[in-house]
Amino acid sequence: MNIQTKVPLAKHTYFKLGGIADQFVEAKTKDDLIEAVRYAIESKLPYFVLGGGSNVLVSDTGFRGLVIKNRTSSVKLKGFAGGVEKGRLDLKEAIVEADSGVTANYLIRYTLDEGLAGLEDMLGLPGTVGGAVYNNSHHLDKLFGDHIIEVEILDHAGKIKKYTNAECQFAYDYSIFHKTKEVILSASFQLSRGDKTALWSIATEAVKRRSSTQPLGLPSSGCMFKNISLADRMRLGVPTASAGYLIDKAGLKGLRVGGAVVSDVHANFIINDGTATSSDVLALVDTVKQKIKDKFGVSLAEEVIKIGTN
Ligand SMILES: Cc1cc2nc3c(=O)[nH]c(=O)nc-3n(C[C@H](O)[C@H](O)[C@H](O)COP(=O)(O)OP(=O)(O)OC[C@H]3O[C@@H](n4cnc5c(N)ncnc54)[C@H](O)[C@@H]3O)c2cc1C
Repeated sequence: MNIQTKVPLAKHTYFKLGGIADQFVEAKTKDDLIEAVRYAIESKLPYFVLGGGSNVLVSDTGFRGLVIKNRTSSVKLKGFAGGVEKGRLDLKEAIVEADSGVTANYLIRYTLDEGLAGLEDMLGLPGTVGGAVYNNSHHLDKLFGDHIIEVEILDHAGKIKKYTNAECQFAYDYSIFHKTKEVILSASFQLSRGDKTALWSIATEAVKRRSSTQPLGLPSSGCMFKNISLADRMRLGVPTASAGYLIDKAGLKGLRVGGAVVSDVHANFIINDGTATSSDVLALVDTVKQKIKDKFGVSLAEEVIKIGTN
């Protein structure tokens, strides 16, 4: 293992924020990932796995322990029903297994090219399979966990285990891994045959929708806050569960603390204007939460995962 020391995490996060990791290692294969986690366990070092860094806010003081940057990359067809037609696989149903470090977009493009339906709405989701399993990432009403049949993990004793879909306890912005903090090694997806052209067209629409509604290209971690509850939505009679709707209605677009700004394009995005610190973002988050509580009586909860302490 090539362990580096004092590595700035800002360059590994979409927010471009975060202090130094005491130790940092890149895992290119599943074996690397297992070795790195076992090393941390045996050395009694705090550790966490960083996927794409698109859903984290790392503190200005960084992380006292080992950060394992997950670059594992294998995607394979684990099993299928169907036959061979004109020298090509004619898949009716397939199980695709992806390492946790594979980018969600690479996996989705692979399934689209194979004419497999299920993940097409998610094209454009930043980050890795591991990060998307951890938070059960969503797009509109589709959840990343919907087609997962099995997740392979490494537990805190360094042992490999498997979870079924039900055992993952997938819910909106949640999986059991929030609680267990086990390391996700790979995930298997059960997908059925679809029309390749139609699937690509749905996927392309999803990407277009993102680029017309999100401030892409500016440093952020996507939506800062989770959707509001159904009870709050009904009480307020608002047309959407999006926290961004309330933030917009409260006139908070453009609100700023230091270099952290509520986006003008999408009110649920907080942008780093290039000069922000993580403390700026946290202070802006607190301000937005207080204003929404005062105006609507709604307690917003962060979707973005905080790493380290400021
Ligand atoms: C522009 C933009 C748009 C976005 N759009 C969406 C969207 O439409 N829907 C949505 O749900 N999210 C969205 N996000 C948030 C983010 O992209 C997703 O949550 C993504 O799935 C996170 O993956 P990641 O690999 O970047 O996770 P990271 O940010 O690297 O990590 C997030 C958490 O997952 C944990 N984790 C990561 N890998 C593993 C692993 N192998 N084992 C155990 N734990 C792990 C980390 O430790 C951390 O706690 C968006 C973000 C951006 C910047």
